[in-house]
Amino acid sequence: MNNFMDKIVSLCKRRGFIFPSSEIYGGLGGFWDYGPLGSLMKNNIKQEWLKRFVQQKQDIVLIDGTVIMNSKVWQASGHLQSFADSLIECKKCHSRFRADHMAEGRFVNQGKAKQKNQCPECGGKEWTRPQMFNLMFKTFVGPVEDKAHIAYLRPETAQSMFVDFKNVLDCSRIKIPFGIAQIGKCFRNEITFGDFTFRSREFEIAEIEYFVKPGEDEKAFDYWVKEWERFFLDLGIRKENLRRKEIKKKELAHYSKRTIDIEYKFPFGWSELAGIANRTDYDLKRHSQFSGKDLRYFDDKTGKRYFPYVIEPTLGVERLLLALLCDAYQEIKGGRTKTTKATKEVEVLLKLNKRVAPIKIAILPLVRNRPEIVEKAKEVYQMLRPYFMCCYDELGSIGRRYRRQDEIGTIYCLTCDFQTLKDNTLTIRDRDTMKQKRVKIKDLIKVLKEKLEE
Ligand SMILES: [Zn+2]
Repeated sequence: MNNFMDKIVSLCKRRGFIFPSSEIYGGLGGFWDYGPLGSLMKNNIKQEWLKRFVQQKQDIVLIDGTVIMNSKVWQASGHLQSFADSLIECKKCHSRFRADHMAEGRFVNQGKAKQKNQCPECGGKEWTRPQMFNLMFKTFVGPVEDKAHIAYLRPETAQSMFVDFKNVLDCSRIKIPFGIAQIGKCFRNEITFGDFTFRSREFEIAEIEYFVKPGEDEKAFDYWVKEWERFFLDLGIRKENLRRKEIKKKELAHYSKRTIDIEYKFPFGWSELAGIANRTDYDLKRHSQFSGKDLRYFDDKTGKRYFPYVIEPTLGVERLLLALLCDAYQEIKGGRTKTTKATKEVEVLLKLNKRVAPIKIAILPLVRNRPEIVEKAKEVYQMLRPYFMCCYDELGSIGRRYRRQDEIGTIYCLTCDFQTLKDNTLTIRDRDTMKQKRVKIKDLIKVLKEKLEE
């Protein structure tokens, strides 16, 4: 299976999906750049998410909060204290334990294994060195580097939604139940990182804080678990590669009443792709307490104020991108077209969903040495660019160019050939079926729009 992961990593590098950050200087552990294709794909994922959960839901509004917030936010949220322990981490499963508990031979999570120095989660025996650990990246605001000016890069996006709760209510006049959505960068100074982009120190989260009346939280929780799963399935992830994991009571985060992780079967094993947490009224209460501002919701029907409960569906954008790549990757031994000469090659097909594929259409002149055909193909390319993410390729044999497009998941290849010069038609080749159809150039925009939206 690691072999499979190597193939994904290699494809990402070779075709411009993902590169190590600062690679010419040896990289920086746990940081990744998204290349020409990866950044388009990431953007498509975010657009799909916004379309689904903001545009199509009238009870959800979007915000865009800052990465650096007032330090008091992290006092109120509990992040400042709960991350400040001396911790060791199991190198195998990344579970963290307090170093003092480890030294005493007991664990925070009283697991099955009683034996000292053995991970109670996975039985692993290798540990990181104990270190005082705050997961938050620290910086200073302003020119003075002293205690009073310390600030942190946010380790989660959620706090903006709680801190802005009142502002959102006042400006949008929205009523409970409602949600605040956000996509944004988060930073965690993980002790160990790895499995390619899976565990990174800088990452993007797409999440909703959905506020409900206490007592209606459990129903909303179930609703959001289903909505989240449906989103993944609709983006093309195979059902058998998804599962729910109910987090045990004793392992829940300090604010959570219930959490379900949605796991994906990554090549390195089942791992968390997304989660749904019932954060109760913990955060709004804490921020009311710490800020001195009343963050209760006023119910104008009953005339009463209360702290709403919060359901938090959240997903890692890069993790979803990685899952989509793994799910779509196929190798066809001997090639897809049995009649071509290149039958000994292994061909890669990236069967990405239409909406997330970075390039929708490739325009190819059949041959490079006929100026009329090349000119026609370039004309079509210019015509389509305002409507679709397109690319133009004239290098190499047509078969090789089809394979290059299949490898990055391009949905349709348009080929201008000799017949194009006679009747202004060209062929549309479907990535998945490899079937070709002739279409009039003047109908192209309409036909492609229909095909891509069907
Ligand atoms: Zn472990």
